[in-house]
Amino acid sequence: MKRDKLIFKLLNEEQDRQEKGLELIASENFVSKQVMEAAGSVATNKYAEGLPGKRYYGGCEVVDEIESIAIARAKQLFNAEWVNVQPHSGAQANAAVMLACLKPGDKILGFDLSHGGHLTHGSPVNFSGKLYEPHFYGVKKETGYIDYEHLKAIALEQRPKMIICGASAYSRDWDYAFIRSVADEVGALVLADISHPAGLIARGLLSDPLPHCHIVTTTTHKTLRGPRGGMIMLGKDFENPWGLKTPKGEVRMMSNLLDMAVFPGTQGGPLEHIIAAKAVAYEEALSDSYMKYILQVKKNAEAMAAAFVSYGYNIISGGTDNHLMLIDLRNKNISGKAAENALVEADITVNKNMVPFDDKSPFVTSGIRIGTAAITTRGFKEKHMETIVGLIDAVLKNHENEHYVKKVRKKVHDLTAKFPLYK
Ligand code: PLP
Repeated sequence: MKRDKLIFKLLNEEQDRQEKGLELIASENFVSKQVMEAAGSVATNKYAEGLPGKRYYGGCEVVDEIESIAIARAKQLFNAEWVNVQPHSGAQANAAVMLACLKPGDKILGFDLSHGGHLTHGSPVNFSGKLYEPHFYGVKKETGYIDYEHLKAIALEQRPKMIICGASAYSRDWDYAFIRSVADEVGALVLADISHPAGLIARGLLSDPLPHCHIVTTTTHKTLRGPRGGMIMLGKDFENPWGLKTPKGEVRMMSNLLDMAVFPGTQGGPLEHIIAAKAVAYEEALSDSYMKYILQVKKNAEAMAAAFVSYGYNIISGGTDNHLMLIDLRNKNISGKAAENALVEADITVNKNMVPFDDKSPFVTSGIRIGTAAITTRGFKEKHMETIVGLIDAVLKNHENEHYVKKVRKKVHDLTAKFPLYK
């Protein structure tokens, strides 16, 4: 077969972009070569609808073993009683949970997208806001921390069937025990979506939702540093007190309902090559070197937040407990969109982000979100955070000066050359 020169040329260009640039998108990371190797393996050829030992296709002996190892490692990593590693993405993990637990029209209570929540937690443009009736809690304007009393007040008023905690752009830890107590008062299930801080939670650097929340979902590609994908976990398998039923009308344990909601509920054949890569990533995340890595992610985020504050930037909540921070640029007279565009010209990648109580549209925004998971994988330490913030500040102050931004770009390339990625 003729080699597809065009696509491989573009993939080389993408690798070059990743090598040269400073990757500060909080949801991104760089997987190891062995994770990539597993993701690009022959397991991509295999259909395996069903679960290990219970497939709808022949020839699944090997992928059964791979998936069983992935499940066992994920359970060990998160101290979970039950795991499904098949969701193709974080969004699909959440879709499966909602399909298993809710009926169309049921009320859900999630963290407001414009305060840092995720689309799948009830946004009107997402299935979660179209199929269910969404209500939202947010952060306190004065502190930038979750307003737990407000959360409780809405829960008592609306009596949702599900309370969702977790976020895409919230830099603080969560009080899962409190949220569970509210849920118990109104008879709701709690779903914790730990997509962003999963690696920090797995290694004990943040509160653990598993003892408190009924169901936990995560992506596998952010701080966890695995392939792009999702998973669903239960700290303790439980008989559902709401009498949730399978399509055949049987009341089952939650694990069973969730398995069925993944397949056949929302997906077809699992991506066994990605499940193999997840297994490799889970083993890596259990290692001592990952522990050192994830500690460094947190230290780098703290150092970076402190550097931003010293340059006069306004960080929502004043700092960070995890790997990311949300910066309100309103005192710097530049929109999130203009900042993102200018930084891209200097090969610094961030994403524009709404800030709580934003007066700009989601396409423009007043903020940017920044994370340290990817640069820490490259080997950056606390002392480099000040340099990076200096480069960002230089671009934002001179964003209309093309020549100046190009000079910063050269500095970015000189810096990243010292931290080779895959070469
Ligand atoms: N949940 C949260 C909190 C996220 O931040 C994200 C992605 O950014 C997702 C779910 C969706 O994950 P995916 O992009 O894999 O569908």
